[in-house]
Amino acid sequence: MSEPFFQVDKLEAGYGEIRVLWGIDLAVSAGEIVCLIGSNGAGKTTLLRTVSGLLQPTAGSILIDGQELAGADTRRILTGGIAHVPEGRRLFRTMSVKDNLMMGAYLRKRDASVEEDLERVMTMFPRLAERAHQDASTLSGGEQQMCAIGRGIMSRPKLLMIDELSLGLAPRAVELLSESLIEINKSGVAILLVEQDVMTALDLAHRGYVIDRGQISFAATSEELRQEPAVREAYIGAA
Ligand code: ATP
Repeated sequence: MSEPFFQVDKLEAGYGEIRVLWGIDLAVSAGEIVCLIGSNGAGKTTLLRTVSGLLQPTAGSILIDGQELAGADTRRILTGGIAHVPEGRRLFRTMSVKDNLMMGAYLRKRDASVEEDLERVMTMFPRLAERAHQDASTLSGGEQQMCAIGRGIMSRPKLLMIDELSLGLAPRAVELLSESLIEINKSGVAILLVEQDVMTALDLAHRGYVIDRGQISFAATSEELRQEPAVREAYIGAA
């Protein structure tokens, strides 16, 4: 693994008195797809929300290219190169698909590169191109996920964080999205994927972390995690 450009060290966060993250260490190198798996309530969403500035950490560090982002606001984190595709996609339902995509670029200077990126997203997801002028609310679940990922790419991130790629989607939609993520990754974007379907996560990712009650309990390659008896028993359902 090359030197990580994104590094989380001893990160702690929670909600009021309730501490959820208890010292998370995690890193991503350029070119990687890394997954984060764990049971319901383990803290996966909380970790992504803390990294993207929606939740303030109470301790620890979040570095991207050596720059400290812990405690920074969401704008600074987005311009620092981190895009977040939230659980439930959170599209602007009464705005068109195209306008939703353009929202991803709202902090960028409006130049030709924004139009080029929009074209790239439309080429990657032809279904979005066909539906560019429809309201986002009219999209199927898989198309909404395409739109949310496309919106993420429109900020030109170094790291794309996706919370629950496959939740509520048909297997064929998950396949299409997985192929797109591989293409996005090959174009130079690292991916941090939170995914409740552990097999989907391990098939896509090069490496993975297991989070258990707010702490990392395993960190290994996807192949090693697939073979690890404790992981199989707890998360794959085959000891
Ligand atoms: P899931 O897959 O079920 O979403 P998760 O691993 O993403 O699980 P989180 O959503 O990060 O888990 O939740 C971690 C813990 O934080 C849970 O105990 C949850 O009840 C608690 N929690 C989450 N959001 C809030 C909130 N807004 N206020 C208080 N507690 C919260």
